[in-house]
Amino acid sequence: MEIRYTAIPADRLTAMRAAGQDEHGNKWQPRVAEGWEPLRCCLQRAERDEDIALICYTPWTEASPWMEAGPIFVHHEECDGYAETDQYPELFRTNKVILNPFDHTGARAYDHITFLDPEDDHVAAVEHILSQPDVAYLHARSREAGCFHFLVTPTGH
Ligand SMILES: [Zn+2]
Repeated sequence: MEIRYTAIPADRLTAMRAAGQDEHGNKWQPRVAEGWEPLRCCLQRAERDEDIALICYTPWTEASPWMEAGPIFVHHEECDGYAETDQYPELFRTNKVILNPFDHTGARAYDHITFLDPEDDHVAAVEHILSQPDVAYLHARSREAGCFHFLVTPTGH
């Protein structure tokens, strides 16, 4: 199965930086990284003393009762994004994660919600969920904090 792993779209981040705020009105301001922060713009860990920003983000672009918005870290300035879109992001491969799937109407596919431990095979779990006929795509989130990690879609979808 061909799968695409998608970080926050660059055009949305560009618009937020230009506006000086995120899409929810929080000021876009620099913050000095401690060096552990997982960045959702490029799916890399922040380097110590790097300029990052803490923003509120939702992967939804139109109104939905399923919409979830929450805190994430991104680079303060534009970065190269995440290019290896056919690869499960290495930084999140051994995380405690919730795979939160949605059906073809955009509703949460409760039957296929999956919780993974660090030692679980994250790729196999994603493939299994996306092979279900009633699943259109899924969101990977932190199991501990609920924060959005990235979007996962079957390609050609
Ligand atoms: Zn970045």
